[in-house]
Amino acid sequence: MSSASEQRAALITGTASGIGRAIAERLEADGFRVLAVDKEAVEDGPGEAFAADLTTREGNRAAVDAALQRFGRLDAVIPNAGFQHVAPVAEFPEERWDAIIAILLTSPFLLARYAWEALAASGEGRFVPIASAHGLVASPYKSAYVSAKHGVLGLVKTLALEGADRGITTAAVCPAFVRTPLVEAQIADQAKAHGMDEDRVLEEVILAPHAVKRLIEPEEVADVVAFLLGPSGRSFSGAPVTMDLGWTAR
Ligand code: NAD
Repeated sequence: MSSASEQRAALITGTASGIGRAIAERLEADGFRVLAVDKEAVEDGPGEAFAADLTTREGNRAAVDAALQRFGRLDAVIPNAGFQHVAPVAEFPEERWDAIIAILLTSPFLLARYAWEALAASGEGRFVPIASAHGLVASPYKSAYVSAKHGVLGLVKTLALEGADRGITTAAVCPAFVRTPLVEAQIADQAKAHGMDEDRVLEEVILAPHAVKRLIEPEEVADVVAFLLGPSGRSFSGAPVTMDLGWTAR
């Protein structure tokens, strides 16, 4: 067992649920010290819980400061926290646009900005945001989400160039639909909107763009993140890592 200062440290956001929780559990099992950041601290969840509102600058700053204070180092940052809003553009609430851009695009930028020197000091720094297949292709009624996720791809490309000579690599994980509360809520909403039962919504609406007709499990995304943070992940920089069940093959 290595001492705390020899253990690699990771900051993961959105760890109270879904993909973030699975990533935090996996990285902790792989021997990382994990700062698990969410709106409210989950004391019985994986990692060391830290509460922050990541739609604010102060929240992102506090999360990075807490990781450095507790661990004395930061080797990986995994921006993952997010939420969705589905509405036609002419009806899209402007404050929801602002909030979605803040959580999905500005938070990753701020986390990179505040953690940058620590990631460089690591010598093997990794910046691995959970983007989406919606970083590569669009769906109707998701203007803010799709725009933010495309923006994350731009951020990852830029930071790959800036980080190259400082030992920092960046990759954006781009999954298709994953079985999490974020998607389960959409199934219920779409079922109401379409007057369909939930099984039909899953097959005919949610899974329609997938060539392979299933949901991804959160642990599959965590496996990919673990790989990217491992020794064989270091060639992946400035690019999307697509795990989309054939969605973007068309
Ligand atoms: P989820 O709803 O299960 O979890 C999201 C977490 O983010 C929650 O714990 C929530 O509390 C936290 N969060 C939301 N707003 C926050 C804030 N202001 N400050 C701090 N924490 C906040 O969602 P998920 O499906 O696990 O999604 C995680 C990420 O994966 C998101 O970025 C999402 O866009 C992306 N993604 C999800 C899917 C999918 O199908 N579920 C597919 C591709 C990409």
